[in-house]
Amino acid sequence: MGNYRIAALPGDGIGPEVMEAGLRVLHAAVSRVSGLSIEVTSHEAGAGLYRRTGDMLPKAVLDDCLAADAVFLAAIGLPDVRQADGTEVQPIMMMGLRKALNVYAAVRPIKLYPGVNSPLKNTERGIDFVILRENLEGLFASYGGGILLNNEVATDTIVITRNGTERIVKFAFELSRRRKGRLLDGRKLVTCVDKANFFRTFAFFRQIFGEVAQSYPEIATEAQYVDAASMLMIQRPEAYDVVVTENQFGDILSDLGAGLVGGLGMAPTAELGDRYGLFQPTHGSAPDIAGKGIANPLATILTAAMLLEWLSYRNNDAGALKAAEMIESAVTTMLATGGPRTRDLGGTATTQEVAAAVEQHLKA
Ligand code: ATP
Repeated sequence: MGNYRIAALPGDGIGPEVMEAGLRVLHAAVSRVSGLSIEVTSHEAGAGLYRRTGDMLPKAVLDDCLAADAVFLAAIGLPDVRQADGTEVQPIMMMGLRKALNVYAAVRPIKLYPGVNSPLKNTERGIDFVILRENLEGLFASYGGGILLNNEVATDTIVITRNGTERIVKFAFELSRRRKGRLLDGRKLVTCVDKANFFRTFAFFRQIFGEVAQSYPEIATEAQYVDAASMLMIQRPEAYDVVVTENQFGDILSDLGAGLVGGLGMAPTAELGDRYGLFQPTHGSAPDIAGKGIANPLATILTAAMLLEWLSYRNNDAGALKAAEMIESAVTTMLATGGPRTRDLGGTATTQEVAAAVEQHLKA
């Protein structure tokens, strides 16, 4: 069993509040598994640091992220902190960090927990699927490289490469193999979401999806246009298992998915590559509720569980998996038994009260 070092970046806005909650539960779970330990090194990074020093991600912090076993980040960005060209600092920092870690797959589970209200009426068949967002190319590849011509025409370029698509699609099938396959007939399914009817880039994405699928004959496949997928995800979310898609579509669909299961406060993310893992809730710094102690920490707590699960997978460490499962089941029990909820879930509890309640339900 392992000893791991985590680089933690609490960041801005609600980041430090949800990070405190996430670390509290992470430490508590790890301490209940014999032979498992973590050491956390916290670093300042993000918009607040940029405002004070002109640097959002100092080299020493990036180096430590590269040296750690995993990076745990809460939220980056403040709307009033901008670069000289008027853009926020959050995108440039996150794109830089993602590229440095080469985390090409953003894994975003969309899961409805018992006792959490979905805006959908018929959820008796449950909602439990994963959106896999390509994290390094697609429309975001042209970040910083858009062109404005004569104040008349603006362009950004979408980039789809064979290598980038093959690796995200392979990741989708491997993820599908590892997942328990919760579809009603027990079948596993990978859905490709694109706009292949209009764009050469997406036709290529779909072509490569088909090529990679040949190596996974036991897994069913389907392909949908993104407009249809946006409707079907609302009409029959229970019919999805693993959804793989381009960066921008994944960005949009994962917020849609979060909306089905209680909102951004319930949406964790693991950004993974072949070597590194960057773990952060799907939400941003939510400046409107920052500093009030009312942010929902469950997305960050569930992100901590994903971090442990990945450590377990990478290091073949049953103890880390045990700690991950302990957190997930504590969250489930806490919610199912009417435990405290923050305002976004209809309650009045504080961030730290929710974390304390999850901690109480951790069972070795
Ligand atoms: P970014 O683009 O920086 O990732 P975002 O678009 O995800 O940010 P956020 O600021 O994170 O936007 O969230 C949008 C709104 O959702 C917030 O203003 C807040 O009201 C709500 N929200 C986000 N996260 C939480 C949370 N953990 N708990 C409660 N409400 C949240």
